[in-house]
Amino acid sequence: MKGKTEYTNCPHCNSKLFPWMPPVDSSWGENLQYVCFDDDCEYYTRGWNHMWENYKAKSSYRFRYDPTTGETGPLPVWSENAHKDRITL
Ligand SMILES: [Zn+2]
Repeated sequence: MKGKTEYTNCPHCNSKLFPWMPPVDSSWGENLQYVCFDDDCEYYTRGWNHMWENYKAKSSYRFRYDPTTGETGPLPVWSENAHKDRITL
């Protein structure tokens, strides 16, 4: 597709993105997503402060890329290990 940005690495920390299978009841259905699971990723580490300051929520998010639609966005996480069990290698 023309003009579509394809990510193999995180634009925030340059770590390799991992293929991640969303839960079947998520809004992404069974479309494989690519997610940055680097715990030092700026996007993720800043997210904890952002969520706390704005929503008083102890959560963050990780960089997510949908290779089907080319869309990127946050994947909400509630702990450092959240979603890691769904990494597909
Ligand atoms: Zn990252």
